[in-house]
Amino acid sequence: MSKTILENSQQGYDPLYDPLSSPDIGSGRAYAPSYWAASAGTPPLTDGPITQDIDTDVVIIGSGSTGVSTALYLAQEHGIEATILEANQTAWGCSSRSGGQGQNASGRLSRSQWIEHYGLDVAKKLDREIYTGFENFKELTQEINCDAFDGGHLYVAHRPEKMAYLEQEAKVRKEIFAYDPKILTAPELREQYCDDRDAAGALWEREGIGIHPLKFTYGLLRKAQSLGVKIHTASPVSGWETIDGVHHIQTPGGIVRAKRIAICTGGYGMQKIKPIKNRILPILSNSVVTRPLTESELTACNFRSHTFLTDTRTLRFYYRLLKDNRLQIGSRSAVNGADATAPQHLALLTEAIARKFPPLAGIPIDYSWWGWVDVSHDMMPRITQPDPKKMVWCALGYGGNGVSFSTWAGKRLAERIAGDNTHREVFKLPIYNSALPFPNLFGKVESQMLAPFRRMGQSFLYKWYWFQDEK
Ligand SMILES: Cc1cc2nc3c(=O)[nH]c(=O)nc-3n(C[C@H](O)[C@H](O)[C@H](O)COP(=O)(O)OP(=O)(O)OC[C@H]3O[C@@H](n4cnc5c(N)ncnc54)[C@H](O)[C@@H]3O)c2cc1C
Repeated sequence: MSKTILENSQQGYDPLYDPLSSPDIGSGRAYAPSYWAASAGTPPLTDGPITQDIDTDVVIIGSGSTGVSTALYLAQEHGIEATILEANQTAWGCSSRSGGQGQNASGRLSRSQWIEHYGLDVAKKLDREIYTGFENFKELTQEINCDAFDGGHLYVAHRPEKMAYLEQEAKVRKEIFAYDPKILTAPELREQYCDDRDAAGALWEREGIGIHPLKFTYGLLRKAQSLGVKIHTASPVSGWETIDGVHHIQTPGGIVRAKRIAICTGGYGMQKIKPIKNRILPILSNSVVTRPLTESELTACNFRSHTFLTDTRTLRFYYRLLKDNRLQIGSRSAVNGADATAPQHLALLTEAIARKFPPLAGIPIDYSWWGWVDVSHDMMPRITQPDPKKMVWCALGYGGNGVSFSTWAGKRLAERIAGDNTHREVFKLPIYNSALPFPNLFGKVESQMLAPFRRMGQSFLYKWYWFQDEK
């Protein structure tokens, strides 16, 4: 192990990178200018870029929390020392850019929607699986120093009509899935948590842990490295050919030969990686962090907790008071990477701060960044083997709910790669036994041919959602 992160920073950060239109992700690019990258402390040492041809058993592409936890569980539970290939820096994608909100969720569908889509029996099994993953995540946050705050999740109604929806969601969680959520009126929310002036009330659920996502992923990596896992940064994979059952994986510095590959590239998977081509819609999410709030600002906004919040907008805002009393807030951003720096995307967030917390209107923003969220075309993740004849697996499609579940996806992915069938019943769940779908039209016609039109549809939907959310 030799290289430091600075030695690996061969290229600057590219704010306009777009996985759908840019042919290359870069090599050794610097981190996005996130609050997390600035405050995570010294990164773990890595094994540096690939500089010659090597042989290994399992290659993991991508060093976010999915890839690193896959490597960790392969080593810890199956005695397999995998090699991680990362295009840029450790956890350079979503795992160093997220809101750090660890929810008892995965994918964009709610539990009521699981019932509609899969039926009650499967929805209940899926709930147990995702919850088991959340419990496992909770244990990891207790073992790793990652500023974890185990204060639950506030799901905030952004207008009075949304309270009926939250009450219905609370009922489903209570009566069908045996959780214990609470409905809070607007005055209760303002008194107990924070004076969010945009809120008409909220649903509080006990399951929710806010973390420092980069400290967390560094911690996962350190655990994995102590078990023999290798990580080669500045080693982008451009594809592979398979000869006599051995994958010859191309990186700029050499070929890596491996029998098994795990694709853990999240929203950053390039179109060149064939098994996932056109199966994910990368969606840009924007995030800002203010300077630390003063005592008088904290009092004026009545911040009494670090519990994280999301709101009921389809294009939701996610926000929380961080450990050092800065406010983080994020939401959707541009449709195309080329438009990511346009001022209206930052304004969406600063205006939301002023609307939710008027005493903070105009507060200086110390950090502003964005990242590509991996949204699958049916809004649910997959941890699968796309072609049963090929020794290639993938885990992605969390749709902005991957902070917690990605670690469990890594555990399940490790079982699949190792051929461990102890949990074969669980593997019958749709997130494990069906392929990531291609783009679809109104949820009916599914086809790869629709891929070039997806962004047009996304632009239209953003306008429609905004109209529904705000008017
Ligand atoms: C702005 C933002 C806010 C978010 N907020 C939340 C939140 O609050 N709660 C939540 O649950 N989820 C959130 N998410 C999603 C969450 O961050 C991810 O689901 C989670 O971190 C898991 O990421 P991952 O490991 O699957 O992918 P990533 O962390 O994106 O890692 C994928 C890695 O693969 C690498 N890679 C890609 N292609 C190649 C290649 N060809 N060769 C080598 N390496 C490659 C990339 O460089 C990248 O480092 C957010 C995401 C974003 C962008």
